Amino acid sequence: MNLILFGPPGAGKGTQAKILSDAHGIPQLSTGDMLRAAVEAQTEVGQKAEAVMKAGGLVSDSIVIDIIAERIGRPDCAAGFILDGFPRTLKQAAALDKLLAAKRKTLTAVVAMQVDDEVLVSRVAGRYTCAKCGAGYHDLFQKPKVAGVCDKCASTVFKRRPDDNAETARKRLMEYYRETSPLLGYFFAKNKLSTVDGMAAVEVVTAAIEAVLLKAKAKI
Ligand code: AMP
Repeated sequence: MNLILFGPPGAGKGTQAKILSDAHGIPQLSTGDMLRAAVEAQTEVGQKAEAVMKAGGLVSDSIVIDIIAERIGRPDCAAGFILDGFPRTLKQAAALDKLLAAKRKTLTAVVAMQVDDEVLVSRVAGRYTCAKCGAGYHDLFQKPKVAGVCDKCASTVFKRRPDDNAETARKRLMEYYRETSPLLGYFFAKNKLSTVDGMAAVEVVTAAIEAVLLKAKAKI
């Protein structure tokens, strides 16, 4: 199963990708996570990407296409993968088509997650994670049961992405509308696009995506 989770920042792609990755035993390929790892390691790619990411812009197509081409070629992607945050431009979508064709793979589905703009900004601006186990929290919507202590691993160290603030969230949303949203038409024309209500509870969204996958698999 080769799935694209599609949507603006804060739509819940990462949350759903993790759940589906565990459920189906296939990897989550998040270009954002890969780029953040490169920034942390201060690789050449990381150094090039850092300032753009912090400002909420898009990293160059050639960098992310190279990253994904290498990642999709690894053995753990043989049974499928879940793309989270890629493709984000028409150029990236065309490159993905080529990559899949070369490997004789097909796209199972593209699931677009719909969430109101103001909700996206407040989700992104308030989110943070446990620095030890990665559990996700939110200043307003999902506080730890004991303030300052992770529910899952009891760590007291948390981290917040430098681009997760209201101002950068709006910039990222603008980039989404300008560069990424045209892909909705691209995938619709290929008969691959389905939409789910991303405002619903996490488990309700997961069930909606699973329903899309069942239908899509029956179609192929
Ligand atoms: P994300 O974790 O998906 O929100 O991505 C964080 C940031 O990484 C984005 O705001 C971009 O700067 C960069 N990024 C991630 N994926 C891509 C992509 N496919 N194309 C360009 N930039 C990307």
